[in-house]
Amino acid sequence: MNEMAQVPRTSLVGLSRTELGAALAELGEQPFRVRQLWHWIYHRGARDFAGMTSLGRSLRGRLAERFTVDRPAVSREQASRDGSRKWLLRFSDGNEAETVLIPEEDRGALCVSSQVGCTLTCKFCHTGTQRLVRNLTAGEIISQMLVAKDATGEWPTPKEGRLLSNIVLMGMGEPLFNYDAVAKALKIIMDGEGLAVSRRRITLSTAGVVPMIPRVGEELGVNLAVSLHAVTDELRDILVPLNRKYPIAELLEACRTYPGASNARRITFEYVLLKGVNDAPADARALARLLDGIPAKVNLIPFNAWPGAPFENSPPDVAARFAAILNDAGYSAPIRVPRGRDIMAACGQLRSASERERLSRFKARQAAGIADDDHAPPRPQPDVHILPT
Ligand code: SAH
Repeated sequence: MNEMAQVPRTSLVGLSRTELGAALAELGEQPFRVRQLWHWIYHRGARDFAGMTSLGRSLRGRLAERFTVDRPAVSREQASRDGSRKWLLRFSDGNEAETVLIPEEDRGALCVSSQVGCTLTCKFCHTGTQRLVRNLTAGEIISQMLVAKDATGEWPTPKEGRLLSNIVLMGMGEPLFNYDAVAKALKIIMDGEGLAVSRRRITLSTAGVVPMIPRVGEELGVNLAVSLHAVTDELRDILVPLNRKYPIAELLEACRTYPGASNARRITFEYVLLKGVNDAPADARALARLLDGIPAKVNLIPFNAWPGAPFENSPPDVAARFAAILNDAGYSAPIRVPRGRDIMAACGQLRSASERERLSRFKARQAAGIADDDHAPPRPQPDVHILPT
């Protein structure tokens, strides 16, 4: 047997330029090769070394022995009636996460996951009911974009008219609990010699990890979206339990001072409309008052249901009234049209298939009155640091 084949090869996807230089130095190669490799990986979308024709044959061979530019396996691909596409990706340790491409007429956004599962346990979110969690690496975050670009054939990256023009960190997980990997991935995604997505076309959504918010503005300069969903701490403590740690006033103060926020670059506040819970006219008025002084817009998100969800979507007239109150107070507040609901690709519906199957097995057993041995409490994951200290 070939011994080389036994050595696990390192993925070059997600390495910084410096790290790539070190990897090349291991092979005795000069730093100028970094630029060539970068171009092949991130501009041309090469999926193996054999096609990197500007590198000599011998170097290609030596690279292939030690490294890979492979993609994660696609466990499942689904297409929505509305044109959205969802990929369930399986990483090398068997963990899975989803990514969703949401095309619009003249552009398209890729909704990227930052963790496998999520520890936030927001009451209305399906991802939050999943127990297995680990942080994704920078390479795993970037590879979601590579897979989507492979599928749409968007290589080499065109300058204009891209189908995959925008990135939203609104998939599974809380990006600010995995800041280092997210920041590293975004810096690579923004690099002008590669994937070249401008920071103005990237939006990071957080449930409100207040101490990390200034760094997003200072170090990355991307657009900020905040999942607010309630106007009192009493309700937000329940809907978004992270609020107990970082209450509304602290969160809004971080938004008020977010570096780079301006009327031209507003902060987006996401507000899921839950029937009879947070959708009263008084809530809308309170929301307008809370946002006073912040360059803000509001995205009103219809609640996307999932099996067993304890909420209902607000009726259209209630949602319209809520929006009108915000509009009258001077805020843009579109009611978002859910995308990809038919393939469980809409906000809050992402989850790994394996976990979904586990839950449906559990439910079937429960219905049949069989003892519950498949519903152990969440297992701690000592090898990953999820909650900030
Ligand atoms: N953890 C980050 C990133 C997730 S973004 C955050 O909380 O912002 C996903 C967005 O969808 C969040 O605003 C989330 O609150 C919202 N969401 C979750 N479940 C939803 C559901 N069932 N219907 C509509 N929106 C939902």
